[in-house]
Amino acid sequence: MSDDNTMEKIVSLAKRRGFIFQGSEIYGGLAGTWDYGPLGVALKNNIKELWWDMFVDRRDDMYGLDTAILMNEKAWEASGHTGAGFTDPLVECEKCKKRFREDHLKDTAKCPECGGVLGNKKDFNLMFETRVGAQGDMKSFLRPETAQGIFVNFKNVVDTMRPKLPFGIAQIGKAFRNEIAPRDFIFRTREFEQMEIEYFIDGQYWEQEFDKWREAVWAWLKALGLSEENIKEYDVPADELAHYSKRTIDFEYNYPGKGHDELLGLAYRTDHDLKSHMEASGEKLVYTPAEGEPFTPHVIEPSFGVDRTVMAVLSEAYTEDKMDGETRVFLKLKPELAPVKVAVFPLLKNRPELLEKAWDIYTELKKTIPQILFDDNGNVGKRYRRQDEIGTPWCVTVDFDTLEDNTVTVRDRDTGEQKRVALIDLVTVIRV
Ligand code: ATP
Repeated sequence: MSDDNTMEKIVSLAKRRGFIFQGSEIYGGLAGTWDYGPLGVALKNNIKELWWDMFVDRRDDMYGLDTAILMNEKAWEASGHTGAGFTDPLVECEKCKKRFREDHLKDTAKCPECGGVLGNKKDFNLMFETRVGAQGDMKSFLRPETAQGIFVNFKNVVDTMRPKLPFGIAQIGKAFRNEIAPRDFIFRTREFEQMEIEYFIDGQYWEQEFDKWREAVWAWLKALGLSEENIKEYDVPADELAHYSKRTIDFEYNYPGKGHDELLGLAYRTDHDLKSHMEASGEKLVYTPAEGEPFTPHVIEPSFGVDRTVMAVLSEAYTEDKMDGETRVFLKLKPELAPVKVAVFPLLKNRPELLEKAWDIYTELKKTIPQILFDDNGNVGKRYRRQDEIGTPWCVTVDFDTLEDNTVTVRDRDTGEQKRVALIDLVTVIRV
């Protein structure tokens, strides 16, 4: 369910329950930065692990990398990022001096804040520049995407792993863009994380390979628990495509209060990237087939934003319903993604025998389900609500019967149903 305030409610829940905080909050914040709290980092790690599992570990044609954020300046010249290719149109209000991204304005003549006249459009490069070395004599940049680290290591992977075409290289890591107007919570930030794949192919098969990746993207969106009706494919029209791309599909999610906007991109980039790096570096970036001449492979690039995924997953999961005559808020997260899979409660806090038994059960379960929590605060009803709010799929309550017959009450987050389960069957009920 979603209304106009849903995003505000999600942002407030995220802060209140330790998912996501404003960056540098005690100093008044820093625009475009957010910090993930204990539950947020668990959710984010679960998403990244699921991605790595699905796209790297479970496939035979994928290789992982973790490349440096700082790269030789020449890499960014070759990729086109230092030039006009990586700029956004910036306009400044002559009256209040506020700056805006021109392509996001409805009226490009008047300031949306104070009505003042807007100055001329300038191309603003989004890369954060930095200096490397004690003398600061080398210019470098915080990478604005993880992809270039993959391209510059193409030869290293080919030489060391001897992959057979088609094959892909994947990495997850931070990226930085000095966005003119960061906004919409973690949707558009200045520091974010990406999960990117460069999938190298023989160019003549690009359409088949593109279709396979399109299906793989849908499988991923399903694995996240995102519903089909909230996702729209935007097939970027030819006149909006980058000059080297023959086809790009933006997968858009219907964010509450915001509407459809880009969650991830899937692009066929021809052999543009490897050819550019080959020319600039003088290195041969080629693949040599078992029979035939060496050639430069083409590439399909699925590029996922981690933070936009977190935002979509939270939006999809946020639910309000009525339970026991009260409105309750819960996160209907898939168990694989939930930051806490199970919470264990002693029915009463002041009975040592219950506490001890509950603690034993918790300790035993933690060996196989590390994302587990122990709670003995307040009454059981309140504890359920607290777990609902953070999306814990199961709550296990230890009572006096447990001491007699080794059974516990397991309560299901979505239905509120409670059933009696023997301790030996617990791990089969709690399936993650
Ligand atoms: P947009 O058009 O929204 O600025 P983009 O098309 O420039 O995005 P890409 O360069 O394709 O984005 O980056 C791939 C992915 O990285 C995006 O689909 C998005 O999930 C994520 N991403 C890009 N910029 C940001 C940002 N400023 N904050 C958070 N995530 C981002």
